[in-house]
Amino acid sequence: MADIALLWDIDGTLLHTGRAGIFALEDAARDVLGVYVDFSELSTAGLTDVEIAVGIVRQAGRVPDSEIVDRFLRVYERHLPMALPKRKGEVLPGVKEILDRSLQREDVFSILLTGNTHAGAQAKLSYYGLSHYFSDGAFSDGTPDRRSIARRALDLVRGRWPNVGLNRVFVIGDTPHDIHCANAIGVRTIAVATGQYGESDLRALNPWWVLPSLPSQDVFFRHIVDGGHGDRG
Ligand SMILES: [Mg+2]
Repeated sequence: MADIALLWDIDGTLLHTGRAGIFALEDAARDVLGVYVDFSELSTAGLTDVEIAVGIVRQAGRVPDSEIVDRFLRVYERHLPMALPKRKGEVLPGVKEILDRSLQREDVFSILLTGNTHAGAQAKLSYYGLSHYFSDGAFSDGTPDRRSIARRALDLVRGRWPNVGLNRVFVIGDTPHDIHCANAIGVRTIAVATGQYGESDLRALNPWWVLPSLPSQDVFFRHIVDGGHGDRG
């Protein structure tokens, strides 16, 4: 049985929101911290929502304890569905084709491995019409650390396929953070240069496969199935 687990990052990998989430962060900063700030220059690539919230709380001069960080994130999640239509985003090329094929293949299991909170992820996926592809995932709720999110994702995979080979598990992501978290759990990374990092930036970290963007489902699965049994990477 060829069991393939795909662990998907969201922002820059499945979709772009046009940074619309920034509006929801600004709204949460106003409502929870009482500060009016322009986050248009805020760098969020590869950071978890918890890390972003901690940074914003600290920037407002407050101690980022879990109570205020949680409150900030719940307010952010409430604003996010209204924020998404403010910018024109997109589902990235190849994503729907690969996910459609994944649903048809019994040997493929797709889950989310994301720095988004669960509710934040749901808001983005439902706005961009991708939620029906994912029944499960590992999110940043309760942890700032992408590596522990990755461990949770691997536990979900093992719950389904207890003996899954680590060379059949693939993190698909667009930043060095995704590559590091895949390395932390001993699985392979498919790095796509559809976010803020170029192919050469990603290749420098030696992921299993580097792509300018996701290919056709045919090329994608042929490479994974043929290459997935070898020792490469
Ligand atoms: Mg990303």
